[in-house]
Amino acid sequence: MPNVKNWWFAAFRKRVDKKTVSELLRASGQKIIFPFYHVVSNDPIPHIRHLYTYRNVAAFESDMDFLLRHFTPLHFDDYVKGRYEPDKPYFHLSFDDGLSEMYHIVRPILLEKGIPATFFINSGFADNQALFYRYKVSVLIDTVSESDLSKAISIATGAGNIQVKKPIRFLLSLRAAQEKLIDDIASAAGIDFKQYLTEVLPYMDSHQLRKLQQDDFTLGAHSVDHPEFYNLAPIAQQEQIKQSVAFVRDTFQIERPPFAFPFTADGADKNLMTDMYAHYGVSKSFGTSGIQKEKYPNHIDRIPAEYKDWSLESIVKSELHYFTAKKMLGR
Ligand SMILES: [Zn+2]
Repeated sequence: MPNVKNWWFAAFRKRVDKKTVSELLRASGQKIIFPFYHVVSNDPIPHIRHLYTYRNVAAFESDMDFLLRHFTPLHFDDYVKGRYEPDKPYFHLSFDDGLSEMYHIVRPILLEKGIPATFFINSGFADNQALFYRYKVSVLIDTVSESDLSKAISIATGAGNIQVKKPIRFLLSLRAAQEKLIDDIASAAGIDFKQYLTEVLPYMDSHQLRKLQQDDFTLGAHSVDHPEFYNLAPIAQQEQIKQSVAFVRDTFQIERPPFAFPFTADGADKNLMTDMYAHYGVSKSFGTSGIQKEKYPNHIDRIPAEYKDWSLESIVKSELHYFTAKKMLGR
């Protein structure tokens, strides 16, 4: 999250928490909000816990109850076809990265509460084919001691006896382009990600994804292997979209699936922002920058619901407040 926004959220939190959702909605002029999560669990998850905070079941259920008190749940198809009342507040919920907790934990809660949602899947990770490079980093931090990590990094980088002082910070600074280095560090530390994938099964398999589809949830694409688009050439961005959209379309017979940009839509190629809807079969695209004035008619930014340990109520209120302030400044 940008520094200004972080600062804004912290500075105004108390004052904003006292305002009601309806007054904040009215001031913002917003009708539909799009919160999104990655995972919900009561357990420490080795491949995630060193990357970001996530909700336990009770906190997630209370987030959902907050939404249902103030907004009407909206199905993705109804949103696309404009089947909603223009003056009522709605929400559409989504979940990125296709994790198995979606099937085991989130699905029963959503079914019980009658909440439709979209699940965005990485075609390279579905069925536990491979592990996201950030998850590899988290697994390394979780299972290898700091001194052994330092040694493994020295070996993998060819630094000889020079010890890396802050191995965790170093690992967390690596990006998708350095995935080979992460793999080399893992093999120097004796960590086998293939074994982790088979034992832990972090991702949903096609059978579980089909069940979600039968439950009337929406499936969407989330790139092949979750790279930073701002580090990719336009042609590589294009391939990430085409391949992952083809996977969702062909595996689940979804004619025009939505696409959620991995990490952020910032840095997405300009031509892509028109071509993906016209030529690559994408119905709508989603970003992660909160409530935004959008530059492209088919692109929607969503509200990251895993912000520190804040409740969704505080996050949504702060997003509405921040958006209204920007709007008043003409931004
Ligand atoms: Zn993601």
